[in-house]
Amino acid sequence: MTTVAAYAAPAAKAPLERTTIERRAVGEYDVLIDIKFAGICHSDIHQARDGWAEGIFPMVPGHEIAGVVTEAGPGVTKFAVGDRVGVGCMVDSCRECDNCKAGLEQYCVKGNTGTYNAVDKNGEPTYGGYSSHIVVDENYTLRIPDGLALDEAAPLLCAGITTYSPLKHWNAGPGKKVAVLGMGGLGHMGVKIAHGLGAEVTVLSQSLRKQEDGLKLGADHYYATSDPKTFEELAGTFDIILSTVSAPLDFGAYLSLLKTDGALVNVGAPEEPISVNLFSLIGGRKSLSGSGIGGIQETQEMLDFCAEHGLGAEIELIAASEINEAYERVLNSDVRYRFVIDAATI
Ligand code: NAP
Ligand code: ZN
Ligand code: ZN
Repeated sequence: MTTVAAYAAPAAKAPLERTTIERRAVGEYDVLIDIKFAGICHSDIHQARDGWAEGIFPMVPGHEIAGVVTEAGPGVTKFAVGDRVGVGCMVDSCRECDNCKAGLEQYCVKGNTGTYNAVDKNGEPTYGGYSSHIVVDENYTLRIPDGLALDEAAPLLCAGITTYSPLKHWNAGPGKKVAVLGMGGLGHMGVKIAHGLGAEVTVLSQSLRKQEDGLKLGADHYYATSDPKTFEELAGTFDIILSTVSAPLDFGAYLSLLKTDGALVNVGAPEEPISVNLFSLIGGRKSLSGSGIGGIQETQEMLDFCAEHGLGAEIELIAASEINEAYERVLNSDVRYRFVIDAATI
């Protein structure tokens, strides 16, 4: 066991503060990672504030981790000391179920082990990336290609894969009209990736405040959802709507923007349930679906795709002492477009 520095929420809804945690000794198939950067995902805030379910406290959030390998266990074959690596939302899964075997570890039937706010195989709580170091099994560690800067790569480990996976699954590409709903951390990567895949991209944001940025990131069109005319003008337009919104929405209104056979794919994880009038699906053979992060192999594919297309995240680098302030700004949709913690300040 090694004692390392971290930022933790000592209890639900309490501000995060500096502390120390224990990391397990490096096992046969583990790598020890010197964390350089950790992104702040809205999921960190939902969990640190007990918005989803009862959390495990103290909680060290962070599942957008980029760093460098400083030690490798004797059985490690995929990584060596000095390699640039990343860790996303999960650090283990059963490895035996049909989903794990199919590279869909995120949907492991026994449940994947979250990078934080979970209990690992040894019965120990997991602690995330707001920390100086982490020990992770090499099979749940990703390689960050040379073309990506580590700070801009960190958010790809959640925001990147969570948008890439559904965009690929629902065949976003040339000839497809894709709307990205919400332009925050996930949304801005959704815009970049959908554009990189060759789709025609529309941003649906609450206002036109970020329009100039959206068009620069690769959107072809940008609309404010606060304007009722948007819904008239865009009725029946999209093949795919990717909702990244963190709050409950009137999905019925957005389903009206789909073409026949279109899909509204939700990745947002609001804290309250929503109700949907099913007639908005029946009239047009539409689907309402969900998607969670992505498998390990697909996450590597996404990192390689982003490196090839020069798609790092747009980030605001902060010191660890600014985490609580950053949380407030994310809650106010005041993020352009991902806060990333400089782990040297932890
Ligand atoms: P974020 O940076 O806060 O972005 C969310 C965006 O949603 C905001 O920037 C805003 O965009 C829009 N929004 C917020 N409140 C709204 C409201 N009341 N009405 C309409 N639009 C609103 O959050 P994020 O880190 O991208 O995460 C987004 C959601 O995805 C969170 O719930 C998170 O937990 C979830 N998530 C899910 C997965 C998964 O695997 N499915 C993975 C990661 C995160 P505009 O300012 O453009 O309107
Ligand atoms: Zn996340
Ligand atoms: Zn499994």
